[in-house]
Amino acid sequence: MLLAIGRWRLFGFDTMERVGAVSYDSATALIVVDVQNDFADPKGSLYVNSGEEVVPVINAEIEAAKADGGHIFYTADWHPESTPHFQTDGGIWPVHCVGDTWGAEFHPDLVVDGPVIRKGTNGEDGYSGFTMQNPETMETIPTRLAELLRDRRIERIVVVGLATDYCVKATALDGKTAGFNVALMTDAVRSVDLTPGDGQRALADVEAAGVVLV
Ligand SMILES: [Zn+2]
Repeated sequence: MLLAIGRWRLFGFDTMERVGAVSYDSATALIVVDVQNDFADPKGSLYVNSGEEVVPVINAEIEAAKADGGHIFYTADWHPESTPHFQTDGGIWPVHCVGDTWGAEFHPDLVVDGPVIRKGTNGEDGYSGFTMQNPETMETIPTRLAELLRDRRIERIVVVGLATDYCVKATALDGKTAGFNVALMTDAVRSVDLTPGDGQRALADVEAAGVVLV
């Protein structure tokens, strides 16, 4: 875990002025992962326990990023009605985030003010905001996210959202692989925990990969 010191210089996150806070600037982007009704609303088909609790925490980060000239990007799971990603078609997940349905909409309380990167639109498996997989060939297909970040000369990303053990983890790890400095805010994520402890293991995995847990 991180040392509770007042000022850190770790993996490029060198301007955190108090414990548990990230400072934003024009080279820093907040990546809001999949805060959609099917994950964040108790009526959602793939509800992440206490998922709605991240919304006010993330809204505060969005305000902080905007105030300091940081960037904000959103990812959204966005599936066709039928995809090998779903149990109904031989996959592992209940039907969720079908494009243009209530479940795919962002949580109504989430402040949305920035580009949205949709993933899984053509039936791919899409966990990471950076990449998707063709479920038949397992070919990796990039999303536009890395290109958009580089276009804006962004070097650091802060990952928040749902769910810790799937899309948040995959986005943080892919961000490292793509060469960004990555932080993850532990009070702005929640986990599915298909197996108890998955969320905690995901945090340990990303930390081992060099992601800074804030
Ligand atoms: Zn999905």
